Amino acid sequence: MSRRKIIAGNWKMNKTPSEAKALAELLKPLVDNPDVDVVYCVPAIDLLPVAEVIKGTNVMLGAENVSDQDAGAYTGEISADMLVDAGVKFVIIGHSERRQYYREDDAFLNQKVLKALEKGLTPILCCGETLEQREAGVTLDWIRLQLKSDLQGVTKEQAASMVIAYEPIWAIGTGKTATSDQAEEVCGAIRKLIAEIYDTDTAEKIRIQYGGSMKPSNCRELLAKPDIDGGLIGGAALKADFADIVNYNK
Ligand code: PEP
Repeated sequence: MSRRKIIAGNWKMNKTPSEAKALAELLKPLVDNPDVDVVYCVPAIDLLPVAEVIKGTNVMLGAENVSDQDAGAYTGEISADMLVDAGVKFVIIGHSERRQYYREDDAFLNQKVLKALEKGLTPILCCGETLEQREAGVTLDWIRLQLKSDLQGVTKEQAASMVIAYEPIWAIGTGKTATSDQAEEVCGAIRKLIAEIYDTDTAEKIRIQYGGSMKPSNCRELLAKPDIDGGLIGGAALKADFADIVNYNK
Protein backbone atom coordinates (compact mmCIF):
# COMPACT_ATOMS: atom_id res chain seq x y z
CA MET A 1 0.00 0.00 0.00
CA SER A 2 1.16 3.54 -0.48
CA ARG A 3 1.32 5.76 2.54
CA ARG A 4 0.96 9.51 2.24
CA LYS A 5 4.20 11.29 3.08
CA ILE A 6 4.17 13.57 6.11
CA ILE A 7 6.69 16.39 6.50
CA ALA A 8 6.58 18.07 9.91
CA GLY A 9 8.59 21.01 11.14
CA ASN A 10 9.64 21.06 14.78
CA TRP A 11 10.22 24.72 15.58
CA LYS A 12 11.45 23.85 19.11
CA MET A 13 11.82 26.92 21.41
CA ASN A 14 12.23 29.36 18.54
CA LYS A 15 10.11 32.27 17.29
CA THR A 16 8.12 34.77 19.29
CA PRO A 17 4.46 35.08 18.24
CA SER A 18 5.20 37.88 15.78
CA GLU A 19 8.24 36.04 14.38
CA ALA A 20 6.18 32.85 14.10
CA LYS A 21 3.53 34.69 12.12
CA ALA A 22 6.19 36.10 9.81
CA LEU A 23 7.74 32.66 9.23
CA ALA A 24 4.35 31.10 8.47
CA GLU A 25 3.65 33.98 6.04
CA LEU A 26 7.04 33.50 4.37
CA LEU A 27 6.40 29.78 3.90
CA LYS A 28 2.77 30.17 2.82
CA PRO A 29 3.27 30.58 -0.94
CA LEU A 30 6.19 28.10 -0.97
CA VAL A 31 4.73 25.14 0.91
CA ASP A 32 2.30 23.81 -1.62
CA ASN A 33 2.42 20.13 -2.42
CA PRO A 34 -0.89 18.27 -2.66
CA ASP A 35 0.93 14.91 -2.37
CA VAL A 36 2.24 15.59 1.13
CA ASP A 37 0.80 16.22 4.60
CA VAL A 38 2.52 19.28 6.03
CA VAL A 39 2.57 20.05 9.75
CA TYR A 40 4.06 22.95 11.72
CA CYS A 41 4.77 21.89 15.31
CA VAL A 42 5.22 25.22 17.06
CA PRO A 43 5.66 26.54 20.60
CA ALA A 44 2.36 26.75 22.52
CA ILE A 45 2.29 30.53 22.47
CA ASP A 46 2.62 30.52 18.68
CA LEU A 47 -0.27 28.13 18.02
CA LEU A 48 -3.01 30.75 17.65
CA PRO A 49 -1.09 33.23 15.46
CA VAL A 50 0.17 30.42 13.22
CA ALA A 51 -3.35 28.91 13.04
CA GLU A 52 -4.57 32.26 11.70
CA VAL A 53 -1.95 32.31 8.92
CA ILE A 54 -2.45 28.71 7.77
CA LYS A 55 -6.25 28.94 7.70
CA GLY A 56 -7.49 27.81 4.29
CA THR A 57 -4.18 26.14 3.34
CA ASN A 58 -3.33 22.44 3.51
CA VAL A 59 -0.85 22.99 6.36
CA MET A 60 -1.86 21.39 9.68
CA LEU A 61 -1.04 22.58 13.16
CA GLY A 62 1.04 20.59 15.62
CA ALA A 63 2.13 21.09 19.23
CA GLU A 64 5.48 20.18 20.76
CA ASN A 65 4.13 18.81 24.03
CA VAL A 66 0.92 17.84 25.81
CA SER A 67 0.00 17.12 29.42
CA ASP A 68 -0.73 13.58 30.52
CA GLN A 69 -3.56 15.02 32.66
CA ASP A 70 -7.04 16.20 31.67
CA ALA A 71 -7.27 19.55 33.49
CA GLY A 72 -6.79 21.17 36.87
CA ALA A 73 -3.96 22.06 39.20
CA TYR A 74 -0.98 21.36 36.93
CA THR A 75 0.76 24.73 36.72
CA GLY A 76 2.50 25.37 33.44
CA GLU A 77 0.96 22.44 31.58
CA ILE A 78 -1.18 22.51 28.44
CA SER A 79 -3.98 19.99 28.04
CA ALA A 80 -5.01 18.03 24.98
CA ASP A 81 -8.44 19.71 25.09
CA MET A 82 -6.76 23.14 24.93
CA LEU A 83 -4.71 22.05 21.93
CA VAL A 84 -7.70 20.58 20.12
CA ASP A 85 -9.71 23.76 20.72
CA ALA A 86 -6.83 25.78 19.21
CA GLY A 87 -6.98 23.68 16.04
CA VAL A 88 -4.06 21.37 16.77
CA LYS A 89 -4.06 17.99 15.02
CA PHE A 90 -0.64 16.54 15.83
CA VAL A 91 1.59 16.55 18.89
CA ILE A 92 5.25 15.58 19.24
CA ILE A 93 5.73 13.19 22.15
CA GLY A 94 9.02 11.76 23.39
CA HIS A 95 11.43 14.03 21.56
CA SER A 96 14.96 13.24 22.73
CA GLU A 97 15.29 16.79 24.13
CA ARG A 98 12.33 16.19 26.43
CA ARG A 99 13.63 12.76 27.36
CA GLN A 100 17.07 14.16 28.15
CA TYR A 101 16.49 17.64 29.59
CA TYR A 102 13.11 17.10 31.25
CA ARG A 103 13.63 13.49 32.30
CA GLU A 104 10.51 12.23 30.55
CA ASP A 105 10.66 8.45 30.74
CA ASP A 106 8.81 5.87 28.69
CA ALA A 107 6.12 5.19 31.33
CA PHE A 108 5.28 8.91 31.43
CA LEU A 109 5.42 9.24 27.65
CA ASN A 110 3.03 6.31 27.40
CA GLN A 111 0.51 8.28 29.50
CA LYS A 112 0.90 11.26 27.15
CA VAL A 113 0.40 9.06 24.07
CA LEU A 114 -2.77 7.58 25.57
CA LYS A 115 -4.11 11.01 26.55
CA ALA A 116 -3.40 12.51 23.12
CA LEU A 117 -5.15 9.62 21.36
CA GLU A 118 -8.13 9.71 23.74
CA LYS A 119 -8.64 13.38 22.88
CA GLY A 120 -8.25 13.00 19.12
CA LEU A 121 -4.70 14.26 18.67
CA THR A 122 -2.27 12.30 16.50
CA PRO A 123 1.01 11.64 18.33
CA ILE A 124 4.27 12.00 16.49
CA LEU A 125 6.11 9.60 18.78
CA CYS A 126 9.88 9.99 18.72
CA CYS A 127 12.48 7.31 19.38
CA GLY A 128 16.17 6.95 18.70
CA GLU A 129 19.57 5.91 19.95
CA THR A 130 22.63 7.75 21.21
CA LEU A 131 25.96 7.49 19.40
CA GLU A 132 27.25 5.19 22.18
CA GLN A 133 24.28 2.86 21.71
CA ARG A 134 24.80 2.77 17.94
CA GLU A 135 28.51 2.00 18.38
CA ALA A 136 27.68 -0.70 20.90
CA GLY A 137 25.33 -2.31 18.35
CA VAL A 138 22.21 -2.00 20.51
CA THR A 139 20.23 0.48 18.38
CA LEU A 140 17.40 -1.88 17.48
CA ASP A 141 17.13 -3.36 20.99
CA TRP A 142 16.92 0.13 22.45
CA ILE A 143 14.23 1.33 20.06
CA ARG A 144 12.27 -1.84 20.72
CA LEU A 145 12.34 -1.12 24.45
CA GLN A 146 11.26 2.50 23.92
CA LEU A 147 8.39 1.75 21.58
CA LYS A 148 7.09 -1.30 23.44
CA SER A 149 6.62 0.75 26.56
CA ASP A 150 5.48 3.98 24.84
CA LEU A 151 2.72 2.01 23.06
CA GLN A 152 1.37 0.07 26.07
CA GLY A 153 -2.43 0.04 25.92
CA VAL A 154 -2.59 1.66 22.46
CA THR A 155 -5.08 -0.23 20.28
CA LYS A 156 -4.18 -1.33 16.78
CA GLU A 157 -6.62 1.16 15.25
CA GLN A 158 -4.98 3.94 17.25
CA ALA A 159 -1.49 2.72 16.34
CA ALA A 160 -2.39 2.67 12.65
CA SER A 161 -3.27 6.38 12.82
CA MET A 162 -0.03 7.39 14.55
CA VAL A 163 3.26 8.72 13.28
CA ILE A 164 6.56 7.42 14.63
CA ALA A 165 9.66 9.54 14.15
CA TYR A 166 12.98 7.71 14.13
CA GLU A 167 15.51 10.29 15.26
CA PRO A 168 19.04 9.12 15.99
CA ILE A 169 20.16 11.49 18.75
CA TRP A 170 23.62 11.86 17.21
CA ALA A 171 22.03 13.29 14.06
CA ILE A 172 19.76 15.88 15.70
CA GLY A 173 20.97 19.44 15.23
CA THR A 174 24.50 18.20 14.54
CA GLY A 175 24.56 18.41 10.76
CA LYS A 176 25.35 14.65 10.74
CA THR A 177 22.62 12.79 8.91
CA ALA A 178 22.11 9.05 9.06
CA THR A 179 22.79 7.59 5.63
CA SER A 180 19.63 6.65 3.79
CA ASP A 181 20.53 2.98 4.31
CA GLN A 182 21.03 3.44 8.06
CA ALA A 183 17.72 5.30 8.33
CA GLU A 184 15.88 2.73 6.23
CA GLU A 185 17.28 -0.15 8.27
CA VAL A 186 15.84 1.27 11.49
CA CYS A 187 12.55 2.48 9.98
CA GLY A 188 12.08 -0.99 8.46
CA ALA A 189 12.82 -2.60 11.82
CA ILE A 190 10.27 -0.31 13.48
CA ARG A 191 7.66 -1.41 10.95
CA LYS A 192 8.48 -5.07 11.70
CA LEU A 193 8.13 -4.37 15.41
CA ILE A 194 4.70 -2.82 14.84
CA ALA A 195 3.71 -5.95 12.89
CA GLU A 196 4.91 -8.05 15.81
CA ILE A 197 3.05 -5.99 18.45
CA TYR A 198 -0.10 -5.59 16.33
CA ASP A 199 -0.29 -7.09 12.83
CA THR A 200 0.96 -6.48 9.28
CA ASP A 201 -2.07 -4.35 8.38
CA THR A 202 -1.26 -1.92 11.22
CA ALA A 203 2.41 -1.94 10.25
CA GLU A 204 1.50 -1.07 6.66
CA LYS A 205 -0.66 1.84 7.78
CA ILE A 206 1.50 3.50 10.44
CA ARG A 207 3.69 6.31 9.11
CA ILE A 208 7.36 6.40 10.06
CA GLN A 209 9.43 9.55 9.66
CA TYR A 210 13.16 10.04 9.74
CA GLY A 211 14.48 13.04 11.66
CA GLY A 212 18.02 14.29 12.14
CA SER A 213 19.58 17.07 10.05
CA MET A 214 17.23 16.45 7.13
CA LYS A 215 17.68 19.21 4.57
CA PRO A 216 17.08 19.91 0.87
CA SER A 217 20.36 18.24 -0.12
CA ASN A 218 19.64 14.87 1.52
CA CYS A 219 15.84 14.67 1.71
CA ARG A 220 15.27 13.09 -1.71
CA GLU A 221 17.48 10.08 -1.02
CA LEU A 222 15.94 9.56 2.42
CA LEU A 223 12.35 10.00 1.25
CA ALA A 224 12.89 7.54 -1.60
CA LYS A 225 13.32 4.67 0.87
CA PRO A 226 10.31 2.37 1.15
CA ASP A 227 9.93 2.54 4.92
CA ILE A 228 10.56 6.28 5.30
CA ASP A 229 7.20 8.02 5.07
CA GLY A 230 8.34 11.55 5.81
CA GLY A 231 10.56 13.74 7.90
CA LEU A 232 10.60 15.54 11.21
CA ILE A 233 12.63 18.65 10.53
CA GLY A 234 14.28 20.89 13.13
CA GLY A 235 16.78 23.51 11.92
CA ALA A 236 15.66 23.51 8.30
CA ALA A 237 12.03 24.11 9.36
CA LEU A 238 12.87 27.68 10.35
CA LYS A 239 13.66 28.86 6.84
CA ALA A 240 12.61 28.57 3.22
CA ASP A 241 14.57 25.27 3.07
CA PHE A 242 11.51 23.66 4.64
CA ALA A 243 9.54 24.31 1.45
CA ASP A 244 12.24 22.60 -0.63
CA ILE A 245 11.83 19.50 1.53
CA VAL A 246 8.02 19.61 1.25
CA ASN A 247 8.42 19.91 -2.54
CA TYR A 248 10.91 17.01 -2.67
CA ASN A 249 9.08 15.27 -5.51
CA LYS A 250 8.67 18.26 -7.82
C1 PEP B 1 14.46 17.47 15.57
O1 PEP B 1 14.75 18.14 16.55
O2 PEP B 1 13.43 16.80 15.60
C2 PEP B 1 15.38 17.48 14.44
C3 PEP B 1 15.30 16.52 13.57
O3 PEP B 1 16.29 18.51 14.39
P1 PEP B 1 17.34 18.82 13.17
O4 PEP B 1 16.57 18.68 11.89
O5 PEP B 1 17.79 20.21 13.43
O6 PEP B 1 18.42 17.80 13.31
